[in-house]
Formats: sequence, C-alpha cells, structure tokens
Amino acid sequence: MPSPDTRSPDRLPSPDHVLSPDGAAAVEVRDVEHVYGRGAGAVAALGPLSLTVPEGAFLVLVGASGCGKSTLLRLVAGFEPPTSGTVRIGGVEPVPGRGAGVVFQQPRLFPWKTAGGNVELALRYAGVPRRERLDRVRELLGRVGLHDVADRRIWQLSGGQQQRVAIARALAAGDPLLLLDEPFAALDALTRERLQEDLRKVSAETGRTSVFVTHSVDEAVFLGSRVVVLTARPGRIALDVEVGLPRTGLEPDELRGLPEYAALRAEIGHAVRSAA
Ligand code: ADP
Ligand code: MG
Repeated sequence: MPSPDTRSPDRLPSPDHVLSPDGAAAVEVRDVEHVYGRGAGAVAALGPLSLTVPEGAFLVLVGASGCGKSTLLRLVAGFEPPTSGTVRIGGVEPVPGRGAGVVFQQPRLFPWKTAGGNVELALRYAGVPRRERLDRVRELLGRVGLHDVADRRIWQLSGGQQQRVAIARALAAGDPLLLLDEPFAALDALTRERLQEDLRKVSAETGRTSVFVTHSVDEAVFLGSRVVVLTARPGRIALDVEVGLPRTGLEPDELRGLPEYAALRAEIGHAVRSAA
C-alpha cells in the first residue's frame, strides 16, 4: 500500500478515473517467462507469453490448477519481477500496492476493524482527506451491494459479505487496474452467482480495467469482455477470444440464454480441456 506522501496530489483517486499516459495499454506483458527456484528443483511456471490488455477491458484468465494463473497475476501486480521479459502497467514497471487493487481468494481483511474501517484505511493510504472518507466509504460499500454493514466487525460478516468488502477496498484507492485471483472460489454456489452478477455491474459502471483469474468456464464467459485460456504449466496462451456479449442491459438469465453465450462456453470449455 502506498503511504500518503508517495502519491502526488494529481494522483488522488476518484472512483472512475483512468491513469495512464496517452495511448499506453493498461497492461503489457511482453515475452514473459517465470521460473521458480534453480537447478534440478527449478519449476517453469509460466510462458513465454505476451499479452496486451487495453484500457477498460475485463480480461479473464482461465486454466487448470497449477498452470501459472496466479503467477501471471502476481507479476502484473509487481509482487515479484519475471525471470525474463517485461511487465508494464500504463507504460511503467509495476510497483506492489500502487497502480493496481488486488483481491485474493481469501478476503485478507483486518478482522478487528469494521467493514467501513477496512475501506476507510485503504482510502487513508491513498491520501483521501479525512473529511471525504466517510462519504466515500458509504459510496464504495453501496457499490458492492453492502448498505447496512459499515459498522459491523469483519467476523460478523458472511464469507460473501467479506469478499464484497475486499472488492470495495480494492476499488477504494482509485487505481486504474483491478486484479482478482479466484475471488469467489471459496463461496457457496448461490453467493458466488450473486457476486458474479454484482461484479459484472460494478465493472460496467466503473469501466475499471480488470484481470480476473478463474478455473470456471462459466464464470469466464459471464464476466469477461475477453477470455484467455492458458495451457498446462508452463502457462502459455492456448486461446484468446473477445466475448462480444452486451455488458449492460441484460438480466443474467437472458445473457446466459443467448446462443452466443452457449457457443463461447463450448469453445472455451473445449480449449480448457485440451490445454490441461
Ligand atoms: P495456478 O494459479 O494456475 O493454480 P500458480 O501460478 O499458483 O498456478 O503456480 C504455477 C506453478 O508454479 C505450479 O506448479 C506451482 O506449484 C508452482 N509454484 C507457484 N509458486 C511457487 C513457488 N513460490 N515456488 C515454487 N513453485 C511455485
Ligand atoms: Mg492460483
């Protein structure tokens, strides 16, 4: 997380802003390979792989367990540098905690704080003045469908509610990029479906560039504006498709009922099975 003084005033977050030099791709991964360890024990986890994510895209990475999805997301977040190749966010090398909000499978919230307190902390780190924070907390929690839980402690929230808080927190800093690593994998099916629907809405409203990792083909087609299927380890691109379904204006059931939806599910499902 950035400390308040590392962000210049013109980088103060607003919910829907986009931060990147003119024309620069939101994310550019070029000739990236990643190997864990050395010598006989080395594990080639990823690549070689190149991928460009334009601003506003909702890219979903799909692939079998262990194919390198989390590795790719961590490289984009800047948690570690790739063994070879380059990663750029808005034209610059990623710095952990800056430039991207990250949501993990487990919410990783501060349990002793309230839901609102967790979001407020992210706003404080992002340099949002104290007098603006309360309104922003309310707005962000509302955006993820949490209207009445701002004052509840994290342990008083359900798993789905906690994950909603984690998404609100990731949106709080106003970073131009949202990275989500199987954020709904630990939730029950019904809760998971609700969160997918709400995230789809939030994404259409904010236009935030997103990279979302999953091993669910249905989740990929439902959420993605583009879906990239990775091969088995070391993960390379097996399929890269534009989804081309309407992002707004359709109820989830209508969307799932479209023939194009079924066709994409079949195509992506086939690619995932052959790549595994
Ligand atoms: P995915 O998210 O697709 O399940 P990961 O990116 O987590 O896959 O892992 C890709 C491969 O790299 C796996 O074989 C995993 O065991 C290995 N791996 C991941 N992290 C490490 C690490 N820190 N050290 C060694 N091997 C790792
Ligand atoms: Mg993973």
